[in-house]
Amino acid sequence: MMRIDIITLFPQMFDGPFSHSIIKRAVEKNKVEIHLHDLRDFSEDKHRRVDDYPYSGGGGMLMRIEPIAKCIDFLKSQRIYDEIFYTSPDGELLDQPSLNKYSNLQNIIILCGHYKGVDERVREHYITKEFSIGNYVLSGGELAAAVFTDAVVRLIPGVLGDEMSALSDSFQDGLVAPPAYTRPAEFNGWRVPDVLLSGNYKLIADWRLEESIKRTKIRRPDLME
Ligand code: SAH
Repeated sequence: MMRIDIITLFPQMFDGPFSHSIIKRAVEKNKVEIHLHDLRDFSEDKHRRVDDYPYSGGGGMLMRIEPIAKCIDFLKSQRIYDEIFYTSPDGELLDQPSLNKYSNLQNIIILCGHYKGVDERVREHYITKEFSIGNYVLSGGELAAAVFTDAVVRLIPGVLGDEMSALSDSFQDGLVAPPAYTRPAEFNGWRVPDVLLSGNYKLIADWRLEESIKRTKIRRPDLME
């Protein structure tokens, strides 16, 4: 079973995303174990502070290294971790191929940054990989960690009901998904393409592939290279 340890200043931020739908079901089915660690529990300060002013001056606070080191060292004393991730706007942009790889890992830690980020020595000496969820700046790594967890967990075999369905999603074959329809076959005079009603699996598969290619050329020409 995969184990994800998330180190955060705001564990409650995960209540919503983790207690519904696919992630909730994956936890119930023992496909993944998710542990939230409140970084303040590792602070030696009597006010449980974990941040301080940067030496460089300028605005904003930085997360201090001691509580983070204490938390990560504690976790590492319990088991071996494949990867210790840090959420960072200058990290590797998350994409489907890397998420496919990460879904095979056993034990991972995700450290969520906050304020202006963490003391650089954390990144140098504890973090093994950094990821970004897009070229924009969030106020904290929590949403990024939730995005990562959602995208990884749905790839673990047996999590999605229909095992094939994760493989038929956009990006899995370097193409975006084809258009999809459900009943009714006609609404307001707008008809579902005839081929989908034909019951001919070969024709349907060809049509879907063709549509995927067409769509990828128009919407994501960058994927066609
Ligand atoms: N000073 C930093 C930004 C701090 S934002 C800089 O200029 O790079 C606060 C925290 O939110 C970051 O430390 C990081 O952990 C998280 N974060 C912000 N944007 C993110 C993104 N696009 N992807 C992943 N994590 C992000």
